[in-house]
Amino acid sequence: KEFLTIIKKEANPTDYKRYLKQLIYKKITSDDKLAVFEVSNRYLASWIKSKYKPLIQHCFEIYDGTKPDIEIKLAGEKKSKKEIISEKAKKEETESTILNPSYTFDSFVVGSSNQMAYNASVAVSEKPGILYNPLFIYGGTGLGKTHLLQSIGNDAIEKGKTVIYVTIEQFMNDFTFSIKNKNMEHFRSKYRKCDVLLIDDIQFLSGKEQTQEEFFHTFNELHNAKKQIVMTSDRLPSQIAGLVDRLKSRFEWGLTADIQIPGLETKIAIIEKKSELNGIHLSREIVNYIATNLDNSIREIEGVLIKLNASASLLNQEINLELAQNLLKEQIKEKKENIKLPDIISLVANELNIKPSDIKSKKRTATVANARRIVIYLARELTHNSMPDIAKFLGMKDHSSISKNIQKTNELMETDENFKLIIQNLKNKIIH
Ligand code: ADP
Ligand code: MG
Repeated sequence: KEFLTIIKKEANPTDYKRYLKQLIYKKITSDDKLAVFEVSNRYLASWIKSKYKPLIQHCFEIYDGTKPDIEIKLAGEKKSKKEIISEKAKKEETESTILNPSYTFDSFVVGSSNQMAYNASVAVSEKPGILYNPLFIYGGTGLGKTHLLQSIGNDAIEKGKTVIYVTIEQFMNDFTFSIKNKNMEHFRSKYRKCDVLLIDDIQFLSGKEQTQEEFFHTFNELHNAKKQIVMTSDRLPSQIAGLVDRLKSRFEWGLTADIQIPGLETKIAIIEKKSELNGIHLSREIVNYIATNLDNSIREIEGVLIKLNASASLLNQEINLELAQNLLKEQIKEKKENIKLPDIISLVANELNIKPSDIKSKKRTATVANARRIVIYLARELTHNSMPDIAKFLGMKDHSSISKNIQKTNELMETDENFKLIIQNLKNKIIH
């Protein structure tokens, strides 16, 4: 109880009221290294962990000077199979609609990079099922797709609509679980009787035939009943490999809206908004520094703000430019040290649907050459390897072709939006 009082003081009030209050403190190990909490469902557990772990640790510090690692687990008790199934079904229902209360239209900064997706989302939440159905939002990682999707959800819930928000992976798990337990009726009535269905990261439907089949029926049923469907993806429907054509075409029935990498001004506005929301004070100089030096994802920018705030409070000093510079330098260095050439190869090969060994081979087909070029570019951007190192690794005799490849990639990125998006996506996937 005492502990919750401290958290309450420090956390966002809505988060506290809806979620953090549910934390049950179990124990701390005798060496003070690990503190264990329980909550009633695993999404809540991982959400609290990802968002509030540093704060909870900080609370321990305030409370008794320890700084244990934090574990938040599912309240576990032995129950009969039947009980487990019925509880799971019930839980899935609430879990799937757990929305992050801070993802709202108000907290979303609009700029030219996301204007269209934002407008479409607002329109859809004002007139669900009528204007754009489905709405398909696509763009690189960490650029605000989930934020917009959940804003639609939060808005619709306020208007009294039944909303289901799930990642396609949750949908799939739910589906397989229902088949296994012969509980399809429950599954169908749940997904086919909502007003607004929000599906996140639909690209992972790729290759999952049975789930595609089921989703096809869910889609049709909802669409016929004029219920709103909104999906997000890191790529266009036409570029999702292993997606059946009838779904591809349905995904394009309504509106597809993209989110691009934000320009400098939008980044600045986002940093200002985020620091204001988190009670962090940053000078104009620092805001500019962060905005110009981080270009990948807003998620990354947010992470830096949190770290910056934490280190300033640990060092008991104001946030100044030097602190920001050191932090970013550390972060960039650390990242580069962690990224290895084979990882880049396997990710690129996987994303472009070729064999990793092809990239190191002498093959010169267009697909392989393109993949190799991307690998070279990413290796240069994201690791400390020199051009000769990279050439050697890829079994290329001449390292002058490395710089030619990089030049070509830069040209392509300037002229081909789609290519740029692919590169950006890969980059984010490697970094995170
Ligand atoms: P995605 O789903 O595209 O990978 P998220 O929606 O999870 O990205 O966004 C990552 C983080 O960046 C979130 O915390 C989100 O609030 C924030 N964010 C992204 N775009 C914006 C924006 N335009 N305004 C405010 N916050 C944003
Ligand atoms: Mg997302």
